[in-house]
Amino acid sequence: MDMIRTKQLTASILAIVIICSLCVLQSCNNQGNTVAPDTSVLTNWQAGQTVTAETVEAFGGLDKCFAAEYIPDGVWERMQGKTYKDNPYIGRDDLRHVRALHWDYDEKIHVGEMICNKKIADKVAVIFRQLYDAKYPIQRMLLPDVYDADDEMQMRDNNSSCFCYRNISGSANLSKHALGLAVDINTLYNPYYKDRTDGTRYIQPSTAEEYCDRTKEFPYKIDHDDLCFLLFTEAGFEWGGDWTTCKDFQHFEWIEN
Ligand SMILES: [Zn+2]
Repeated sequence: MDMIRTKQLTASILAIVIICSLCVLQSCNNQGNTVAPDTSVLTNWQAGQTVTAETVEAFGGLDKCFAAEYIPDGVWERMQGKTYKDNPYIGRDDLRHVRALHWDYDEKIHVGEMICNKKIADKVAVIFRQLYDAKYPIQRMLLPDVYDADDEMQMRDNNSSCFCYRNISGSANLSKHALGLAVDINTLYNPYYKDRTDGTRYIQPSTAEEYCDRTKEFPYKIDHDDLCFLLFTEAGFEWGGDWTTCKDFQHFEWIEN
């Protein structure tokens, strides 16, 4: 091997060694810069926020994100005078705070929460996990307190919820929602309606007239082929879409045995 060839070879080896060293250094730097995802949105359970799969993993995984627990103090305070009013029928001990994640059509993971009767809370948490695993779209799952417990407003916003201490609309009887025993899902697209004897129709929310026509196709529509319908009815709930004197397509009500 002549001198020039040897020099060229040495230079090449040197270049390779330098490039490799830089790569190693770079990868070390990257590792050093890796920051664990901020899990505070899940630690503080900030419903309405979105999270990434990495954040869920850092928080402890999906199993930690679907649960029914005793109502935390902060949540209980938010409910006072809104969804919760002093009454002889239902108290804090009868209710549970259900935590769940849900997908929307935007392919993002949303943080959701719901107050349910302790009789159904575990079942509801399991159903929401099944809906999450199937990427079933639920747009919003906030406590109705966000809307000052105004049912019309939360339905216009397509909110999904359960407990609210109130009477059945247009009646003096307590709603199943007042006992936390009925769950409403994607409420704008699955409205309530009742045909009056004078031929007019009462619709809730009032902005949902076009979604009363169930022959049409539109997002979030619950029908007999819908996964939400299948899971709730299999778990022992009755669907308001099957009622005959009125229709309540958003409504799944626990049937006492
Ligand atoms: Zn309902």
